[in-house]
Amino acid sequence: MEHKYLFIVGGVMSGVGKGTSSAALGLTIKAKGYSVTAIKIDPYVNVDAGTMNPVEHGEVFVTVDGDETDQDIGTYERYLDVDITRMNYMTTGRVYQSVIERERNLEYGGKCVEVVPDVPEEVIRRIKAAAAQAEADVTLIEVGGTVGEYQNILFLEAARMMYAENPDAVQFCLVSYLPVPPSIGEMKTKPTQYAVRTLNSAGIQPDFVIGRSTIPMDGPRKKKIARFCSVPEEHIIGAADVKSIYDIPDMFEEQGFADSVLKGFDLEAKKNDLSEWKSFTEKVKGATETVKIGVAGKYFSTGSFTLSDAYISVLEAIKHAAADQGVKADIEWLNSEEYEKDPEKLKELESFDGLLIPGGFGSRGIEGKIKIIEVCREKNIPYFGICYGMQCAVIEYARNILGHKDAHTTEIDEGTSHPVVDVMEEQKIKLAKDEYGGTMRLGSYDCDLMEGTQSHKWYKEDKISERHRHRYEFNNEYREELVGKGLVVAGVNPKQDLVEIVELKDHPFFVGVQFHPEFQSRPLSPHPLFCGFINAAKNK
Ligand code: GLN
Repeated sequence: MEHKYLFIVGGVMSGVGKGTSSAALGLTIKAKGYSVTAIKIDPYVNVDAGTMNPVEHGEVFVTVDGDETDQDIGTYERYLDVDITRMNYMTTGRVYQSVIERERNLEYGGKCVEVVPDVPEEVIRRIKAAAAQAEADVTLIEVGGTVGEYQNILFLEAARMMYAENPDAVQFCLVSYLPVPPSIGEMKTKPTQYAVRTLNSAGIQPDFVIGRSTIPMDGPRKKKIARFCSVPEEHIIGAADVKSIYDIPDMFEEQGFADSVLKGFDLEAKKNDLSEWKSFTEKVKGATETVKIGVAGKYFSTGSFTLSDAYISVLEAIKHAAADQGVKADIEWLNSEEYEKDPEKLKELESFDGLLIPGGFGSRGIEGKIKIIEVCREKNIPYFGICYGMQCAVIEYARNILGHKDAHTTEIDEGTSHPVVDVMEEQKIKLAKDEYGGTMRLGSYDCDLMEGTQSHKWYKEDKISERHRHRYEFNNEYREELVGKGLVVAGVNPKQDLVEIVELKDHPFFVGVQFHPEFQSRPLSPHPLFCGFINAAKNK
């Protein structure tokens, strides 16, 4: 099998949706009968995304095999409907680490190890290994950041080297931005032309240009880019903002994007089956009723801006479940810190059809989360707690039902007399040695579900497997007492006897999970617990 490679690089500015564009293109190529995988290159020196602040870098997406990756890997999983593993994610740190390790093991046989070609060669080795492992006909490789940045030059060099080695198997696509400055009132192509020149100076000529913009690109603009960038006009793909990101594959199909890419690889469409995807997008469009969902976290604000990228998989999982339940979800981001002191704010919560507390770390905002949970429990508001959201639910129950007023997680209060959430045994050693990177309980673990619970009802299964990212856990020393006072243990890890799911009886929906179900929700297979949560919100 000959693997084909399409490199996707960014121009003009970051954050224009390279990941979503790549994933949408991947979906349309897959629909034509080819297996597709996607690789994300993050030019940061960090070895993985686990050590990056989610406000700056976005969500840390966790793979089945426990890698802490960029949120784009999540986007690929959702569009391509495949599990992606650690092979498909690399950072500068990871690449250098391998080169240095190999040097230490004398694997370079005494030769001088050089940044070029040894670093790009490691990049190439990784790309080829990922394509082989996925048995992919077409591999999409997204290079993070924008061309012209010092830090992605070695990755571009790797791409150029792959092209030089086999020009028939490698193509390039530049995702650029076409601003329409209000004072001028015209779409400008010059920044894109400069981006192409910069790419040219790295020895790369793009085969395709995706022009991201707020309004659709017109004919004259297409002609201009084609002429000044030496790219065939039909390879200039317009990508104006759309109402729903799920419409992007359709937009690309109308412009014959996937067919052109396949043609460039000397391949032809074997079929064109987007029917499942279409029935999903119809469902999204068909929903009329709206449910109001509040998501309470703290990784939103940067300066005067509010971003939701830190919770992108949660947001997507809500949308998938809403489509499944035939409703539209109106999502509001709540800053949990605001609920710590103001009882008026807590009253506002009753206007929500459902509240969700996603994963989190540290003390900022935790008391607000615990208050929000109390309101959900007492006022019968559907509640879905994920990871920290589950741990906070246990703390709330211990404080208000068991009467242990200082119950806490030892993550925040090491001296609490009631550590209902405590550090995991194996984590103690790591923390003592300051080993933080990639050392949490990560990746997929099994969980047995108890009959007669909400979770069992929605999963319709006895055994499940979900992805994790945590250091602290439900403290089994309090299990008897909590269960004795009505807390339901609905799911347990069979090997470690670790409580993975807690619920409340006689509540429309109150479920806290130690794992991150959002990472496994897909448009075509919405997550059962998110469906249960949205269903309860709909019924409220
Ligand atoms: N901070 C908690 C822990 O480490 C929860 C982590 C999370 O929500 N992902 O256990």
